Amino acid sequence: MEKCQDLSPSLTTFMHSRDAWSHLEARLDKQPGNAEFDAIVIGSGPGGATVARELSRRGSRVLILERGGNAPLRDGLFATVSILNGVSVGGKIFMGRALTTGGTTAVYLGSAVRPPLETFRSLGIDLSMALEEAESELPLATLPDALLRPPSLKLRDSAMAMGHELVIRRMLVDQSTCTSGYSYRAKWTARSYVEDAVRNGATLINGARARRVLVDQGRAIGVEYELGKTRRQAETRQVFGSKIVVAAGCASTPLLLRASGIRNVANRGFFCHPSFAVFGTISGLKGTEGFGGSWGFIVDNDIHIGDANFDRTVHRLLMLRERKWLRVFRYGNAIAVGVMIMDGPGGELREDGRYYKELAAEDGAKLAKGEEVARRLIEHAGGKNLFRTFVNASSITGTLRIQEHVDENLQTEYRGLYVCDGSVVPPDVVTPTLTLICLGKYLANHLSRSI
Ligand SMILES: Cc1cc2nc3c(=O)[nH]c(=O)nc-3n(C[C@H](O)[C@H](O)[C@H](O)COP(=O)(O)OP(=O)(O)OC[C@H]3O[C@@H](n4cnc5c(N)ncnc54)[C@H](O)[C@@H]3O)c2cc1C
Repeated sequence: MEKCQDLSPSLTTFMHSRDAWSHLEARLDKQPGNAEFDAIVIGSGPGGATVARELSRRGSRVLILERGGNAPLRDGLFATVSILNGVSVGGKIFMGRALTTGGTTAVYLGSAVRPPLETFRSLGIDLSMALEEAESELPLATLPDALLRPPSLKLRDSAMAMGHELVIRRMLVDQSTCTSGYSYRAKWTARSYVEDAVRNGATLINGARARRVLVDQGRAIGVEYELGKTRRQAETRQVFGSKIVVAAGCASTPLLLRASGIRNVANRGFFCHPSFAVFGTISGLKGTEGFGGSWGFIVDNDIHIGDANFDRTVHRLLMLRERKWLRVFRYGNAIAVGVMIMDGPGGELREDGRYYKELAAEDGAKLAKGEEVARRLIEHAGGKNLFRTFVNASSITGTLRIQEHVDENLQTEYRGLYVCDGSVVPPDVVTPTLTLICLGKYLANHLSRSI
């Protein structure tokens, strides 16, 4: 923790020295009310971008520190690989994320699921107004069949024929830009909210990796960050703000809080929602490109089965990772079903900053059951040559719990330090983007009353 700043020395002793004046100014900057920014937001995924946009709209001075770059978002293998990053949660299980302005929404599918309002209400958070506002301004709708892939439609029919209770999801897709079919650019990304924030006067610094939050007498006063492309060349800087919002994503935020002196993060382990996909082929099928993730159903309460007929880029990346070289180019006749399970809490965040979790025997049993359901579904739809991908982690949740690590205003044990990203989302929220947008609006509304 930082030591308390003492401003008591007599001003007259400073009057004669320029250095002394700048020293005093620097110290004054650190006092509440004299900070350079009303709010410093660390990370620009859907959580951080929404807070930044909403606060800047209300006239607050906002700084966004974003670790990734700001190169234009593009579809395609190289553009995607350049922003993708994997975080190990133990062994060969990795969680994918994107390091760029807009965070992981740069590579997500665009499925939207309403936040569980009752769960949040029981935690003292009313998201109903935020949800109403988000729904009125976002491009949210179920997609017409013309924008889905033919294998996805075949599987949807099979799932219904097999008696599964299907949920058709709304997608964050601007259909007005899909006149010729699938378009990567049609997906809403949090970058659009960052751009709104910058238009409203917010400052965005890319390549800025926050290392810790500066704390003075139990109150967050600023952020120490590294600026530079490589860690070797990076320059360490400090910036001061009245409110600090950590929104660096579910993998980074617990580490940042720990580095800032909050020791009890992940004290009850975490959830990682293991997932994989089962792929097959259908000969003669000429599958056009389309949006994946538009439908799903649940088996035995916590095995989630869903549409994994992704766009071409995600398909290719997956096949490369699986070393299925021939399938990289056989997008047209591929058919796929995704499986994700709700694991129990466990594992640890180690002192060296690594997450580690071993899947329990019951998780293995759930994954096996999910695979069986996925295989039957693909076979019913006419698919052959089936194989299962590696297990991935969908997220890292449960490291920070509302009413335990943060209060109902998402404030940590330090005054003025808030968290607004996937790390505070309750573990049963498995499609979190819309929930994070609502949490961002909710937090900005609370903060704007005291800025
Ligand atoms: C392939 C894939 C498909 C998905 N599909 C869906 C979907 O269809 N629907 C859905 O709801 N969700 C989906 N998700 C999940 C969703 O994208 C994430 O849950 C969501 O983006 C998390 O938002 P966040 O704000 O918590 O973090 P992120 O979006 O990860 O943003 C965190 C930001 O913080 C930055 N950052 C990290 N560390 C630092 C630091 N130290 N200093 C400064 N900045 C830092 C990062 O660069 C990043 O920009 C998908 C995820 C993946 C990987």
